[in-house]
Amino acid sequence: MVGTNWDVIIVGAGPTGGRAATHLASLGHSVLMLEEHQEIGRPFQCAGLVTPKAMHEVGLYDSVLEEIDGARIHGPDGTLAPVGTDGKLRTYVVCRKQFDQGVVQQAMQAGATLSLNSTPLDARVDEDGVTVEVKVDDTTLEMHTKLLIGCDGAHSWTRRHFKMGRPKEMMIGFQTEVLGYQGKPRWLEMFSGSAIAPGFFAWVIPSGFGSHRIGVWSTPDRLDGKSVERCYEDLLEHPMWKDRFENITETARYCGPIPSGMVKKTVSNRVMLLGDAAGMAKPTTGGGIGPGFRQIKGILQPLSVAITADQLNEKQLQKITSKHFNAMKKDQEKARALRNLLVSDTTDKELNKHFKNFAREDVLELINEIGDIEKPVPLGLALIKKVPAFRRLALKASTRLMFR
Ligand SMILES: Cc1cc2nc3c(=O)[nH]c(=O)nc-3n(C[C@H](O)[C@H](O)[C@H](O)COP(=O)(O)OP(=O)(O)OC[C@H]3O[C@@H](n4cnc5c(N)ncnc54)[C@H](O)[C@@H]3O)c2cc1C
Repeated sequence: MVGTNWDVIIVGAGPTGGRAATHLASLGHSVLMLEEHQEIGRPFQCAGLVTPKAMHEVGLYDSVLEEIDGARIHGPDGTLAPVGTDGKLRTYVVCRKQFDQGVVQQAMQAGATLSLNSTPLDARVDEDGVTVEVKVDDTTLEMHTKLLIGCDGAHSWTRRHFKMGRPKEMMIGFQTEVLGYQGKPRWLEMFSGSAIAPGFFAWVIPSGFGSHRIGVWSTPDRLDGKSVERCYEDLLEHPMWKDRFENITETARYCGPIPSGMVKKTVSNRVMLLGDAAGMAKPTTGGGIGPGFRQIKGILQPLSVAITADQLNEKQLQKITSKHFNAMKKDQEKARALRNLLVSDTTDKELNKHFKNFAREDVLELINEIGDIEKPVPLGLALIKKVPAFRRLALKASTRLMFR
């Protein structure tokens, strides 16, 4: 039996919901996670890259399938820019099912309750709290909470129900799991060019036990009617790359959205959005696990005080969140502006020119020194400032960054 009165109800037990529940339950709040599926971590749509910082936070090293030292990035004409150093770990590849289950298990160990097969049907806010009608299996229950947190992913019910806006960009990703690909151990591959991933890139990531994840992402406007599955097929048939894919056998396929660009309204009276629901994925890599973790961590103490004092109206929540969320939003916007300038809004011809520079030894040294998946902005700015060939972009970059 699930109780009916809670300090916090979290819709969605993915990594963000699980992490938020762990923090809040550890601080002594009663927390209920509602998860629409019967199982945590399924279905998943993810390449499974988790940064060392995010992994360190949860310590779920038993979910790691591979460790990655670098990325071999290919320009449209095949120019190779290898970013990384053998033996120097850059990121982890995880089994998302095991990772998500680990995060949610930590929440339960901290005292949070999980209700599977549970989804909100309605939610009404009044001065005393939020009344949530929840369908649990075939039963409808009325529950009450001081605060409702939407961690319910890209198509968030909470975001739509409370009309909290839309993420600025909704990228679409397609991925397969394959056997039979021969890549460089501990390195992932990235392929660029308008024929395969307009404005973005395709990836091949080792995922343990001889398996690889091959994926492509882009935005609907850049795809211009072409499906992202078609982009994937075009990668496999590309004259320059097809030999690499000759012996692969697909074992699974997934397609999913990647919301990037924080929504206008992350809080409303007694309601808050976190993670993909709030549009937190990185515009440069599509990674959403780290940003979801960061988003909740940065507001924890004042949020806990506000829950205890039951001071959770929109203004009070804004006061708690605005500094941290606005800083994250600014970072996201700067990263998007630089991504567009250097990669997404360029023609293949311009991108080939950029790659010639990326592949230079001094530039690779700079990328390896400053490059950080967590912080792409300092790298983008350093490239523009320090590499003479990119200096002509400086004026454009400063204009774009100034007017964000
Ligand atoms: C192809 C692809 C590759 C990606 N690769 C990476 C990567 O390598 N690294 C990375 O960090 N990110 C990656 N991402 C993004 C990453 O998957 C998300 O950013 C991350 O899962 C967000 O976590 P979340 O908890 O906010 O949302 P989700 O993981 O989407 O979790 C939301 C949870 O809420 C549940 N839910 C939804 N609606 C309801 C409802 N109405 N009621 C109850 N429960 C509900 C869902 O079942 C789910 O369990 C990728 C995405 C795609 C599509």
